[in-house]
Amino acid sequence: MIGITYHEDYNKYDLGIDHPLVGDKPRKSIEFFKEKNIMKDIKLFSPEKATEKDLLRAHSKNYVNRVKDLSKTGGMLSSDTPAPIGIYNIASLATGGSILAGEKLFEGFNIMANPLAGFHHAGRDFSSGFCFFNDIAVIIEYLREKQKLKRFLVVDLDVHHGNGTQDIYSSDPTVLNLSFHQDGKTLYPGTGSLDYIGRDKGEGFTINLPLPPGTGSASYLNAFNEIIPQITRQFDPEIIIYQSGVDTHHSDPLADLNLTNQTYYHLAKKLMKLSSTTCNKLLVLFGGGYNSNASVTSYYNIMCGLLDKKEYKKEKDIPDKKTDEVKILVSKLKKLLAKYWDL
Ligand SMILES: [Zn+2]
Repeated sequence: MIGITYHEDYNKYDLGIDHPLVGDKPRKSIEFFKEKNIMKDIKLFSPEKATEKDLLRAHSKNYVNRVKDLSKTGGMLSSDTPAPIGIYNIASLATGGSILAGEKLFEGFNIMANPLAGFHHAGRDFSSGFCFFNDIAVIIEYLREKQKLKRFLVVDLDVHHGNGTQDIYSSDPTVLNLSFHQDGKTLYPGTGSLDYIGRDKGEGFTINLPLPPGTGSASYLNAFNEIIPQITRQFDPEIIIYQSGVDTHHSDPLADLNLTNQTYYHLAKKLMKLSSTTCNKLLVLFGGGYNSNASVTSYYNIMCGLLDKKEYKKEKDIPDKKTDEVKILVSKLKKLLAKYWDL
């Protein structure tokens, strides 16, 4: 049994008719799960809004006030992120969903998911990239306070680099922030270079694998197998937070990686197994995905992987022309991390 936090108002997270972020993706995902008959294995929980106190564990007072003020009048948070009237409440509700999901991991659930979550472009004092509040950081700080957790693993597989999460945690060795993303030289937000491994006490606890455009499923899964299980076992996290963005799909209009539907099944299953052999607490935050139909299918496959189902959606494989290039990047990364991790 997996728990999902869901609220009808999630579907109001809509940044406008011409904006790539489509508001009703959470509803469509749940409807598709119903249609495919997996809701019998899923329990829904209705979240409440995160409080200002929750938000302030991760963000500055100035920033929270700025979003609140913009939300009253409408306006632009940044050049790519319009702030429609009322967005403060909706973004707080999404964040509340991640908090509730995190709490449930301490009330008998081993896997929890939030379909409007993983807002990794929000830093302590800034944001863009369709994000308002960094729910990853908000739930980390919530659990640090309430459950006294000391080791948090973030596995961020969204196609974009999580510059906000990196901003908040690059000097913090209690949060291992591991991100695979399309190379910042070719995609927003431009950060997440391979040689950036954190700073001060956090050195070695930021791990970035920037991938070339065209990277396909074979290289991606191989890179996952070479890095993530070893790091997870050595770090020994008390919770794994999986930002499961599906904008790595070949049809995504915003990015250029070439993953297929079935890859999400395998990635989710691998993370479920890793969690069950370590902390047994997996928080899945759905993240980005801008081809609505492909995203819903990919999220369905993620649920099938998490539920260890035999059946899932498959599509035609795409030849992967980047295997050699990605292999070189992985060995570079291993070399760079050798001082900190046994890979
Ligand atoms: Zn993304």
